[in-house]
Amino acid sequence: MSSVRDLLRAGPDGSPLLPRIDPRGHPGIRNKGEAQLEAADTAGRLADLQERLWAEHTRSVLLVLQGMDTSGKGGTIEHVFRGANPAGLDVAAFKQPTPEEAVHPFLWRIEQRLPVPGQIVIFDRSHYEDVLVVRVHELVLEDVWRSRYAEIVEWEERVASAGTTIIKVYLHISYDEQRARLLARLDDPDKHWKFNEGDIRERARWPDYMSAYEDVFLQTHSDAAPWYIVPANRKWYRNWAVERLVVETLEELDPSFPRPDLDVEALRERLAPSS
Ligand code: AMP
Ligand code: MG
Repeated sequence: MSSVRDLLRAGPDGSPLLPRIDPRGHPGIRNKGEAQLEAADTAGRLADLQERLWAEHTRSVLLVLQGMDTSGKGGTIEHVFRGANPAGLDVAAFKQPTPEEAVHPFLWRIEQRLPVPGQIVIFDRSHYEDVLVVRVHELVLEDVWRSRYAEIVEWEERVASAGTTIIKVYLHISYDEQRARLLARLDDPDKHWKFNEGDIRERARWPDYMSAYEDVFLQTHSDAAPWYIVPANRKWYRNWAVERLVVETLEELDPSFPRPDLDVEALRERLAPSS
């Protein structure tokens, strides 16, 4: 089987990618039943690899999740890391910058949430908002957001060469699927807390966001920090695919438990019950 990383890796070529990728697609796996059959194994595999990464305490992983409202960033995190050890994990959700964040360069708040050695950090939104929402709503001049692509590429290269493997994921849902999900939130009082009137305003700018995303793929896809486009209309597929991306990445890193040179016999001796 070819790797899910190969299947989903973005290949920006100057013409829009998203219209060529079916949000209902499920490359790499036949159906939900098959995904469920794999689930327990994959969760165990991820837990084991994460423990090794954490024990090794040298390298780290950064998973960047981007996508339109309701694309499932939160649900993906819940699913993929359900069996992971919270001690080696961190989730950073980036909202509208606070007044303190706003006076600093846009990468300032991002830098602070980078993983420490051994850690897996998940970004729920990221520095990419500074070339997405900021562009769509003209929150800064065009020259300013345009100059950010190169800055991001350079910064990500630096982060990667310092030992952090970067995986960038776009959760690809359709305009119609977003409508269905927003309506479902309205139907369920327990989901009203997730409903944000602003989501309807953002939805009206859908084509602008799609163009902004196309530029993000074109300008910031790199070997050091590749983009993966995950069809996300089907939640089971989205969960399966992101989990595979993380597991394949960890398998490639192949972290191992440190083997300190312990004098086991002498230590056992010292643990002998006192008489
Ligand atoms: P949510 O992820 O749905 O809780 O919403 C967070 C909101 O914060 C989204 O509407 C983002 O577009 C917005 N946001 C995140 N980063 C920025 C930023 N750098 N500038 C402006 N808005 C942002
Ligand atoms: Mg939202």
